[in-house]
Amino acid sequence: MNESKDKKTVWYWFRRALGVYSNPPYVENQLREADVRGALFLTGVVTIVEIWMLLRYVKNWVLPGEVETLGEFFHYTKDYWLLLIASLLLFTYSSLYLRGKASRLKEFSGAFIFLYYLFAMYFGITTAQHDFSRGRMIICFLTFLMYATIICIWRPYTSILLVCAFGFGFLWLLNNRTFDKAGNALHLSEGDTINYITFMLVLFILSISVYYQRYRDASKSWKLEQIAVTDDLTGMPNIRKFEEETKEYLYERFSVGEHPIYLVLDIANFQTYNDRFGYSGGDQLLIHMGKILRSVFPDEPVVRVSGDNFAVLTNAEDYKERVANIRRQLKTAYPTETYLNIKVGSYRAKGNTKNARHAIDRAHHALKYLHNSDNEFIIEYDEKMRKDHKLKEYVLNNLEKAVNEGYIKVYYQPVMWSEDGTIAGCEALARWIDPEIGFLSPGLFIPTLEDARQIHKLDLCIYESVFKNIRECMDQGLQILPVSMNFSRLDFELMDVVKELKSLMDKYQIPKEYLHVEVTESALTSDVSGMKKALKELSDDGFEIWLDDFGSGYSSFNVLKDFRFDLLKIDMEFLRNFSKDNENAKKIISTIIDLAEKLHMGTVAEGVETLDAVDFLREAGCGRLQGYYYGKPMPFEELRSKIDNGEYRVRS
Ligand code: C2E
Ligand code: CA
Ligand code: CA
Repeated sequence: MNESKDKKTVWYWFRRALGVYSNPPYVENQLREADVRGALFLTGVVTIVEIWMLLRYVKNWVLPGEVETLGEFFHYTKDYWLLLIASLLLFTYSSLYLRGKASRLKEFSGAFIFLYYLFAMYFGITTAQHDFSRGRMIICFLTFLMYATIICIWRPYTSILLVCAFGFGFLWLLNNRTFDKAGNALHLSEGDTINYITFMLVLFILSISVYYQRYRDASKSWKLEQIAVTDDLTGMPNIRKFEEETKEYLYERFSVGEHPIYLVLDIANFQTYNDRFGYSGGDQLLIHMGKILRSVFPDEPVVRVSGDNFAVLTNAEDYKERVANIRRQLKTAYPTETYLNIKVGSYRAKGNTKNARHAIDRAHHALKYLHNSDNEFIIEYDEKMRKDHKLKEYVLNNLEKAVNEGYIKVYYQPVMWSEDGTIAGCEALARWIDPEIGFLSPGLFIPTLEDARQIHKLDLCIYESVFKNIRECMDQGLQILPVSMNFSRLDFELMDVVKELKSLMDKYQIPKEYLHVEVTESALTSDVSGMKKALKELSDDGFEIWLDDFGSGYSSFNVLKDFRFDLLKIDMEFLRNFSKDNENAKKIISTIIDLAEKLHMGTVAEGVETLDAVDFLREAGCGRLQGYYYGKPMPFEELRSKIDNGEYRVRS
């Protein structure tokens, strides 16, 4: 309950003054801790005072004459001993509590302190009444009332109740039930009564002001804490809070043998919505999404992970229906934005996965395996994904090592002249041969490194190896073959490609005609002016620029319109399952070759696997051929030995 949102009526202020309201658990906890800290200090002091009192009795022999034996001494001082023991007990408990070691007895702090309070009051009352009957002052009671009040700085109404009950109770006792030795009833003088009541009032005011000080501090730090654990935009818990909540949630469910599931919800095409309605529109959608999620999973830990990703941990068996419900609600709320959708990756919590971030990572990873269909919107992380994920993690964690230790190798695949079957050059292809896990496919590590924006590190290593190999050939006076190297779109963002290539040229002194730059068509379809500029510079500088995978994307021809390439690599998809009588495939390939010719570009066909394909491509006028028919990518030494033994002929 949040009081500050209530209307501030007289009743509100009255309740506030008395302290009749509920606090958030965090505030309660802080208050309780302050109380225990008070108890620690006070019982420390009381312990010292009691020891002093007892020593004083022993040392100065201020015991009355009737005390002769040790037994009598203990009997006479029993209250001091009891108070000493009680103080020591509470002192120990408080120090354990504050060091976080009293978790099982945490709930009892109030009860323990109150017991001590009662005991202290008993001590104060009996001693002071005794003193009073002997004509002495009632200081002892006042001292103990002070002690007791200090450790029970609870809500104002409890302070009022306690101070009144004990204060006036004792006053009544003095005036009605206290007698001197002769049996005459005693009374507190009027002046002393006024002093006495004033004392109680001051004490009471003091305790309330201390309470409010503590309360303000606790509320303030609670607010700060709230800010630190809340997502600014949606007001949902943030990942820190989620981690805390899931720990508790899992602990409870695991203990009854249940295995809740993490769901990561991704708003598909959120970017499109953002583009249409701007950031504030997008923000509204995210806030709305947070509300829907909260309403469908009211009792579970939820979080906005980042951007348009939300997560929930649930043990609801009908979680799939609930997700479907969220999708329906979103579609109903945004009927015109038909592209909006919810996709969900899930991960079943196991005993050893208490870390929410890992679980979210996995559920999120599963999303990548979700096909783009409207009926399929939820997918669970499985064993295959786990292996894949592990491998990807391995790649990212070990890239540097692989580069330094030489696990990254360049393989070369020959490219032949179609005319006479002599070797025209080769393509450099990366291989990761790991001593621990063996051969890694570029189909895995290249996209992984691209996703993590680390691809340039690998590519630089490949380029350097290529330069080294060419230099070796030059030094040994061998025939040099041009090498085409693959460039990722990200290479142009992550490094200065022109500068890097130039510095390698300087270092190894390689003529430019031996190096070709391969960029894929899809790399050029996105808006990359930096890349186009760099390619132009390289081209002006004398490097050949080749267009890779032509025909695999959506806008192949546009790319040709805007940029001049030296050569066009026809995507191997066109030759997949090539058979003599697939007339359509043949027509398309022929047309591409004609087009390249018209634009004064050379052509290479990739994925040439059969003699039929070779014959057809030669007929159609494709200049160069590359594929398993001639050879798979192979290490540098193997390529050299095949040239040496005449398996690959070089034009003279
Ligand atoms: P890509 O540039 O299109 O390379 C051609 C791929 O086709 C190579 O796969 C090659 O081994 C394979 N291939 C060649 N001939 C045949 C054939 O006759 N039949 C079939 N089925 N496949 C053939 P690889 O080496 O697995 O490389 C896959 C992709 O990884 C490459 O496609 C390229 O995009 C990327 N890649 C490889 N090395 C590098 C690199 O050093 N840097 C960058 N950025 N990307 C690289
Ligand atoms: Ca290529
Ligand atoms: Ca290719």
